[in-house]
Amino acid sequence: MAKRKSSASAVSPRAEARPRLLSIVCPAFNEEENLNAFAAGIDAVMSSLTQPYEIVFVNDGSQDRTLDLMRRLRDESGRIAIVDLSRNFGKEIATTAGLDQAKGDAVVVIDADLQDPPEIIRDMIAGWREGYDIVYARRSARHGDGPVKRLTAALFYKLIHGVGDVDIPENVGDFRLMSRKAVDAVCALREHHRFMKGIFAWVGFPSKEVVYDRAPRAAGETKWNYWRLWNLSIEGITSSTLAPLKMSTYLGFATACVAFIAGVFFIVKTIFLGDPVAGFPTLIVVTLFLGGVQLMVLGVMGEYLGRVFNETKGRPLYFATEILESKTENARPDQRGAA
Ligand code: UDP
Ligand code: MG
Repeated sequence: MAKRKSSASAVSPRAEARPRLLSIVCPAFNEEENLNAFAAGIDAVMSSLTQPYEIVFVNDGSQDRTLDLMRRLRDESGRIAIVDLSRNFGKEIATTAGLDQAKGDAVVVIDADLQDPPEIIRDMIAGWREGYDIVYARRSARHGDGPVKRLTAALFYKLIHGVGDVDIPENVGDFRLMSRKAVDAVCALREHHRFMKGIFAWVGFPSKEVVYDRAPRAAGETKWNYWRLWNLSIEGITSSTLAPLKMSTYLGFATACVAFIAGVFFIVKTIFLGDPVAGFPTLIVVTLFLGGVQLMVLGVMGEYLGRVFNETKGRPLYFATEILESKTENARPDQRGAA
């Protein structure tokens, strides 16, 4: 954290950073219970600021009335854009679809379930106006999470800090503001296995943090059960480091060394003491152990190979059934010219 703060304080405010359009990207999957409250919450915060904005809703293949509600909100306000994905692609890809569509000079990514308090957007905009390219929100408390989830989250961060190539800040989700520069960088990474925390950390740029209290979900259920969290952790590790492959090599090497020493031991023992009893238990233990190690190492290689397979197909990240733009002024082309 100390390192991050000192690099942040070295950033000088940019005189030309006259903020224009802000896009608020919100992926939503079966959020009919939250959407109206969410839109009202955003409206309440943004109406107190002199900041032009649009909301980019991404309907991630919801099976409830989420899309209808989005359309209704769009009819009421010219500030709303909708990206209706052709099916459920998962939060990571839904977020990317929203980023692709966002016209703003900066973009805030926020969840629809009101766990990310819209009031924080005010502090994020302030950070952006100071000249930071990324202002991310760090949770000070995880009210909605039980002790097991907290412990597993802590273990995951410890692991990724130990083996990962880039530092992923702890207790930071996708809730953040990114300047156009940062958004373009994130959008340029088109990998299918999108571990967003890793992608955000990888692109870099001067960052600042704001701290907030994470409330429990307003309504509905989290889509993250333990199985999905486990898969997300594997995604996080395999997408940001090759360490498991290296560990497999060392594990194989260590096992071979142990086998060699054991082999020498048994040969010497047989020569000097003879071998009156057939060593069936030793044999079965060693065979099973080696078989287990080999399968595990193959599994690790398979995880990476599967990812290579998925990426080589070169498919588009998503398809959209319909894209409805907001009626807010598009400030993007001249901003790009200036960059
Ligand atoms: N979400 C999505 N697609 C999915 C799962 C979730 O777009 O397949 C959205 C969801 O509607 C919400 C956000 O991603 O706006 C965060 O989801 P959730 O609250 O389930 O995650 P958590 O807050 O528990 O991390
Ligand atoms: Mg949530």
